[in-house]
Amino acid sequence: MRRDRFNPVFSGLGTTIFTVMSALAVEHDAINLGQGFPDEDGPEAIREAAAAALRNGPNQYPPMQGVLELRRAIAGHSREFYGLDFDPLSEIVVTSGATEALGDCIMGLVAPGDEAVVIEPCYDSYRPMLEAMGAKIRTIRLAPPDFRLTEAALAAVFSPDTKVILVNSPLNPIGRVLDQGELELLASFLTRYDVYAICDEVYEHLVFDGRKHVPLISLPGMRERCVRVGSAGKMFSLTGWKIGWVCGSRTLIEVITKAHQFNTFTTSPALQLGIAEGLRHHMDFALANTSALQTKRNQIAQALQAAGFDVLKSEGTYFITASTRKIANEPDTVFCKRMTREARVAAIPLSVFYGDDPPSDLVRFAFCKMPAIIDEAGGRLARHFASHPR
Ligand code: PMP
Ligand code: GLN
Repeated sequence: MRRDRFNPVFSGLGTTIFTVMSALAVEHDAINLGQGFPDEDGPEAIREAAAAALRNGPNQYPPMQGVLELRRAIAGHSREFYGLDFDPLSEIVVTSGATEALGDCIMGLVAPGDEAVVIEPCYDSYRPMLEAMGAKIRTIRLAPPDFRLTEAALAAVFSPDTKVILVNSPLNPIGRVLDQGELELLASFLTRYDVYAICDEVYEHLVFDGRKHVPLISLPGMRERCVRVGSAGKMFSLTGWKIGWVCGSRTLIEVITKAHQFNTFTTSPALQLGIAEGLRHHMDFALANTSALQTKRNQIAQALQAAGFDVLKSEGTYFITASTRKIANEPDTVFCKRMTREARVAAIPLSVFYGDDPPSDLVRFAFCKMPAIIDEAGGRLARHFASHPR
């Protein structure tokens, strides 16, 4: 088989680390704190609504832009939480997960040769999709321990050739939530250089310690420049459902929908109706889940510290990052695989969220797990690293 005839972006990729580490966790009967999925399913009423729709219909192709009830519910959610108004008929498109939404946005907005900015560490789907569209990627790297976005970092990569920036806040993997100052800085660069922002806000409700998530699109002048990507999986602990969406101005949503129509065309009507029920009646679940997650964040931070890791701050998301410097001196991927096999706890090496020259001592743990599981994982790690000193 002549692999050199395949698309070089995709033929050059490995399998995503999330799949690799989940398989390794199963193989070694390890606790999986790698791939970010909760171990308790979201509200039964949402699952019942979807089940009823499966039984009673509709079961044929729903509208390409998404079931209208869901688009209305998404509009209602944006209005209720952020005072943002989107027209369900022309400013919202429903996708098969945020992953598709991000791909559609990139396909719709980026042309070959355009410069696209990513902020590292960044989600692993961004780079391949940008490269597949022929973008030239410019990188901002957030620096530990604070991982703040600075004016100098933006000034170093923005130019008249910049077309788009991908902004993920709350940020997977390190749990940063951009504050008002950083958002205003971003907004000023978008305006000055006439740039679009694809805002990946899938963890919008998972913010801790009284912080508030502020969508970049809600800042003055940003309505025409930003699109806001959401995911029901994270809101309702239903990550396998893969219901996502994009909200933005009519002109941007129009072109993004053109990409959506040939990527998936549409997504399961029953699951869309289930999520419409969730957005309308079960946001209390999402909010209660956030306060439970904050407690779990504290629990895992303590457990990791006790096992010898240096733990970084997590302001939001399902994730916390820790340095292995005091307990190991091997690259993060080797460390994570060894930890899965020997300590029977799986995590994700941070290097997969970087392009060139990644850090090698940082690993990400998912804490969207039951307290007893986090306890057991903490115990395993403490015992393992006590008996395997560096
Ligand atoms: N963006 C980020 C930052 C994520 O962590 C994820 C992972 N779930 C996604 C997008 C994709 O979300 P979905 O599962 O809805 O495709
Ligand atoms: N977003 C999830 C994570 O970061 C993984 C999604 C996936 O497996 N592609 O863990």
